[in-house]
Amino acid sequence: MKFTDFNFHESLQEGIMSSGWEDATPIQEQVIPMILEGRDIIASAQTGTGKTGAFLLPILQKLITGSSSDHHINALIIVPTRELAVQISGQLDGLTYFTDVSSIAVYGGGDGSSFVQEKSALSKGADIVVSTPGKLISHINMGYVKLKELSYLILDEADRMLDMGFHDDIMRIISSIPENRQTLLFSATMPSKIRTLAQKILKNPAEVNIAISRPPERIKQEAFIIYETQKNPLVKLLLKRSTFKSILIFCSKKLSVKQLTRELKRAGFNAEEIHSDLEQSQREEVLRQFSSKHLPILVATDILSRGIDIDQIELVINYDVPHDGEDYVHRIGRTARAETDGTAYTFVTEKEQNKMAQIEKLIGREVPKSKVPDELGPVPSYQPRERRSSGGGGGNGGGGGRRKPFRR
Ligand code: AMP
Repeated sequence: MKFTDFNFHESLQEGIMSSGWEDATPIQEQVIPMILEGRDIIASAQTGTGKTGAFLLPILQKLITGSSSDHHINALIIVPTRELAVQISGQLDGLTYFTDVSSIAVYGGGDGSSFVQEKSALSKGADIVVSTPGKLISHINMGYVKLKELSYLILDEADRMLDMGFHDDIMRIISSIPENRQTLLFSATMPSKIRTLAQKILKNPAEVNIAISRPPERIKQEAFIIYETQKNPLVKLLLKRSTFKSILIFCSKKLSVKQLTRELKRAGFNAEEIHSDLEQSQREEVLRQFSSKHLPILVATDILSRGIDIDQIELVINYDVPHDGEDYVHRIGRTARAETDGTAYTFVTEKEQNKMAQIEKLIGREVPKSKVPDELGPVPSYQPRERRSSGGGGGNGGGGGRRKPFRR
């Protein structure tokens, strides 16, 4: 569905276009009409699905076309972390660029001067406030936050907020806003504590569930639990022993891409790198070499994880754990295309174990842990937080703000 089909206000449509969005993602398609109708929503959707746009766009449309109160806060978005607050504000800035809608982000950390700035902005009022719970409460306690006219409350990543112990803060904030409001609750997972919260704060909500895509069954997935310093020796060992002819290695950072490629070349492997520091023509040349199978090993940042269609990549190595399940699925989905079988290895260091466990939860299965060759010495055991605290909700891997455009 095209955004033009929603009949958004012209100024909003311009912002959507300049953000480079043309087609609505599935969650946007489902949720936007219901929010426009005024329904409360409980939606399970992960980062990467376009969930932020799904709640921002209809709220913006209502603020632009309805009667909103000046000098008051009209919409409040509560989020667990400053990274998410920054990310949502970034999307808001793009979408509201051609409108009169004002917004402020209020989040923890920061110094005294940012508190003063926030205080001044909150005292004047803003159409939309994006805030972490604790920081907002500090301001509410000072008495100048104008929440009495609030029409829209959005809780984003609600499961994470509860895991972080924000339940009471959320309820305290809700006690200072009108009961007659529209409430939208987004959560990656739906443990019973989220259902209980939903019963308390939502009215006859519509329920939406956008399941994360699953990797194809025929991809053989393996994880290696190692120390950071063992990554390079392990890549080299696996490459030396492998018979794969087309291998794509993903690193989250450009610097790691460059360092690893240098090291592989030094060790005599035919490897090249691809990342955003290269000119377009250089990227195209490397890709051509790799797709025509003249180049067996390509080391890449996530610019290659979505969309690019190269047949018969036999092995994908995740040099580090991707930020979330959606990225993981996209990365390993580069192998096993066109009905061929593929293999995906993921390196998991101690710091990345929680992220890996979160991904396993999202894809609905454990990735088998392979034995690390003895010559690499002792390795850590796999003990992610989620396993240690059995039955908990969606602990986060400390991933915080991941920010990459949704592409299909
Ligand atoms: P989210 O799941 O809300 O964190 O969004 C993930 C990323 O997808 C963000 O970088 C958005 O800017 C981008 N995005 C959201 N909706 C769309 C869309 N309809 N078309 C293209 N990109 C989108």
